[in-house]
Amino acid sequence: MDKKRRALLQTGMMVGGAGAFAAGYANPVAKAVKGVLSGTSGVPANDRIAGNALPPEFMITPQGELVMAEHQAVSPVQCFGCWTLCGLRARVDTANNRVLRIAGNPYHPLSNPRPPAQETPVREVYKTLAGEAGIEQRSTACARGAALAEQLHSPYRVTRILKRAGRRGEGKWQSISLEQLLEEVVEGGDLFGEGQVDGLRAIRDLETPVDPDNPEYGPRANQLLVTNAGDEGRDSFLKRFAFNSFGTRNFGHHGGYCGFGFRAGSGAMFNDLDKFAHGKPDWDHAAFVLCIGTSPAQAGNPFKRQGRQLASARSDGGLDYVVVAPTLPNSISRLNEERGRWVPIKPATDDALALALIRWLMENDGINRRYLAQPGPAAQARAGQPSHTNATHLVLQAPHPRAGQFLTAADLGRGEASSPLVVNADSGELMDHTDAREAALWVEREVQLADGPARVKSALLCLREAAFGQTLAQYSDYCGVPLEIIEGLGRQLKRHGPRAVVDAHGGMMNGNAFYTAFSVMTLNALLGNINARGGLALGAGGVAAVENGPRYDLARFDGMVTPKGLFLSRNRFPYQNSSEYRRKLAAGESPYPARAPWFSFSSPLLTEHLAAAFAGYPYRLKAWISHMTNPLYGIGGGQAFLGEKLKDPANLPLFIAVDGFINETTALADYIVPDTLTYESWGFTKPWSGVPQQTTTARWPVVAPATPRLANGDHLGLEAFIIALAGKMELPGYGKGAIPDSRGGRHDLHTAADFYLRGAANLAFAGDRPVPEASADDLVLTNAARLMPLIEATLAPDEQRRAGFIFSRGGRFAPFESGWQGELMGKRTGNTLCIWNATIGSTVHAMTGERLSGCAAFYGPRFADGSPMRDHYPEQEWPLLVTSYKSHLMSSSSIGAERLRMIHPENPISIHRRDAERAGIRHGQPVRVITPGGQVEGIALVRDGIVEGAVAIEHGYGHSELGARSHLIDGEPTPANPRLGAGVNQNDLGLMDPTRKEVANVWLDWTSGASVRQGLPARIEAI
Ligand code: SF4
Repeated sequence: MDKKRRALLQTGMMVGGAGAFAAGYANPVAKAVKGVLSGTSGVPANDRIAGNALPPEFMITPQGELVMAEHQAVSPVQCFGCWTLCGLRARVDTANNRVLRIAGNPYHPLSNPRPPAQETPVREVYKTLAGEAGIEQRSTACARGAALAEQLHSPYRVTRILKRAGRRGEGKWQSISLEQLLEEVVEGGDLFGEGQVDGLRAIRDLETPVDPDNPEYGPRANQLLVTNAGDEGRDSFLKRFAFNSFGTRNFGHHGGYCGFGFRAGSGAMFNDLDKFAHGKPDWDHAAFVLCIGTSPAQAGNPFKRQGRQLASARSDGGLDYVVVAPTLPNSISRLNEERGRWVPIKPATDDALALALIRWLMENDGINRRYLAQPGPAAQARAGQPSHTNATHLVLQAPHPRAGQFLTAADLGRGEASSPLVVNADSGELMDHTDAREAALWVEREVQLADGPARVKSALLCLREAAFGQTLAQYSDYCGVPLEIIEGLGRQLKRHGPRAVVDAHGGMMNGNAFYTAFSVMTLNALLGNINARGGLALGAGGVAAVENGPRYDLARFDGMVTPKGLFLSRNRFPYQNSSEYRRKLAAGESPYPARAPWFSFSSPLLTEHLAAAFAGYPYRLKAWISHMTNPLYGIGGGQAFLGEKLKDPANLPLFIAVDGFINETTALADYIVPDTLTYESWGFTKPWSGVPQQTTTARWPVVAPATPRLANGDHLGLEAFIIALAGKMELPGYGKGAIPDSRGGRHDLHTAADFYLRGAANLAFAGDRPVPEASADDLVLTNAARLMPLIEATLAPDEQRRAGFIFSRGGRFAPFESGWQGELMGKRTGNTLCIWNATIGSTVHAMTGERLSGCAAFYGPRFADGSPMRDHYPEQEWPLLVTSYKSHLMSSSSIGAERLRMIHPENPISIHRRDAERAGIRHGQPVRVITPGGQVEGIALVRDGIVEGAVAIEHGYGHSELGARSHLIDGEPTPANPRLGAGVNQNDLGLMDPTRKEVANVWLDWTSGASVRQGLPARIEAI
């Protein structure tokens, strides 16, 4: 084509395009002009360009002075848009009690990667947010965090006490007084015309066994279940009531259906099956990060901080990274594609990849031998290593009765029973692991014990045998990651050694979740990166404010109860210690299988609590107090199974929900107590992990709550309800003189502020030195001055301005430099890290009777009886595997935020182009996904950014409540918007465990009890 003709054509296209544009957009253009002139929402525009956007939160004059907007303050707050719980700043209209805008708290490391020292005056710090300086010191909220202030005035919010006026879940309510609520839930009676309901007073029986045949189950008081969504800052307050005041053993939270599979596997490697420690990459100094089952900038925790760190590291630093996931995540940027790559993997096969990498590292001299050869702390120090493992410790082999545990000095008739032995690398003699010498890595030998000979193997050899159970080609075939990619990843890990990190999180929630996470985390132990700068770092945590602090004891009180008995979810208690087990043995029966799984090394599991209660195994529940929990939405298969059971009050007679909104679970409650929302309430939180400086977030009511004001000045919400309930029941720990101080005094607990202000005093005085006193200017700029009359009436004089300091900064923050000490992280674990976890390795599964592997192992997805998932649901019938992924915009409870919905109104169903062709599905077409547990209908997103064989669904949509449907309160319909129900909830596809015949429940990880949402067998069809 000659140049003239091309130019002519281009001109024609431009003219034609402009004409088409003008024709197509005539209406929007007219609207835009009208909007500029007369406003788009009926309000005239103030400014031709800025419209009615808010003026800046403050101005910096040419002289460099900071001037606040009139009747406004910028207060530090805590976000609850997700479990990162960032410290944010709220611009508050103090005249009208409204939060106008949300941004990041500049003091807070979850919002500002390089925060100033907390002693810096607020005025100086706020100045750094303005102008060009603001780019460097920018402290941000993510889109979700920025949008959630609108929840305060949401039309779907609950602000009255409600009692159901129809069948459970029917959506009919009557508003009642606090007095009526307390009378009914405490004293019980025929509350709903459906028969007698026991009240909380009758349920709190601390003496009578709940089941005399099984005394280990504990007293009848255990028939109250108390749950919260998680620790969003008020955990200590609620646990004080549940455990120590009421005296129930049963407290649950969302962990079992969030990321518990990961936490359990991580805890096994960190040798911490109590708190289930976990780490995150030291992003600022790592050279290579391999993410498996987590996608920074898309998901994981800390979500926003990691996203920023990743972006900075790949642009400014020297970081290379790979994200292994079934779907292409936001973590990958085309701008830096040589730095970050996506490796597709079949859903729920990460264990195969991890074991392949373990095998490759072992075969190719990629493990850190010098690190692994140090058997204890003394050898670690002598060798200058950042931590040590039990790679060289000797594991007793079957048929020894202690098989799976370590050979100790006591086995040989000498020394401390708990001190494992190793083989001296030089002499070949047995020595204690505490000796400051290297130990042999690969050991298999027979030893003479006091009770005869026994075989032992080093932990590292046990791991080698587990990893060598399959060839690399077999692992590759199973997980769909090509062999050359696996080898390339192995080379990267080997090359970077301790500055390579393998990261994981919620993507582990599959039918073999625990072992998947344990296997992935073991890679870090083999690299020797734990505690090392640029390695896998423990979070530095925070200061416990609401415990037994330096000023006030908020944990103990006169008459406090120590809860007793078996957790309802049959966790932290071996089945082999149960009366049931002993009875079966005495009757000459096999004790296996138990009636249902016992999760002996897990924390309490809300995934099992309700199913256990419905079946009465170990015992039934009589009441449930739920604070913001929503297991019916969050547990795979929860709505279909647990929801249907919960509708029948015979299965759980009394259900009280404390919540700001009616979610899918709250909708089935008997009573709803309105709760204060984040910006209206008090609380103390700490980052889950990923922040190397000690950090405690302090939140306080920056606006007056929308819930009713009580006679004592408190507003109705969680704390006010619990205090009133405890008062009615005359429980210990509340009211007059309930809080002891460190000077021998006693203080009343009548309001939330009585509790949390004293927590602030503890926080202010924690550590070697108290924080300084806040200046008057600090208090005015942040509006913490609003709290001062209350603070002065509650705290001692030397505490008052220091508490003001805590609230004006939004918490207490250690200096940035404290994050590292030379080549080590500032916060370090001193635990012996587990290549072999002897607690796990000596656990016998309650259903299968098999002894579990104490190290990483390849089991694949299983049901409770140990049978592989594919034995029940073969690939021929169910050719696809469903996987979920996190939304970077929407959380499980944020659908009511209109600004988020406007950007991302619903979630399509992702499927690979070739799978779509096989199923005859076109992009944008309605489709139905079917699993053995349910089906959902949505819109097909046909793409290449998903592995073949997978169906992927973004979490956060497909709600049936939270405003998606209308309820009747006192006969009046509540506002509703069906668009809040848009999209699909992947958990509606969750399935029942077909092998749990006696105590039915949904599919849970066969060892940890975590909810299964990755790798659900499925098929898809066009509608
Ligand atoms: S990551 Fe975003 S939504 Fe989550 S707590 Fe932080 S600001 Fe809020």
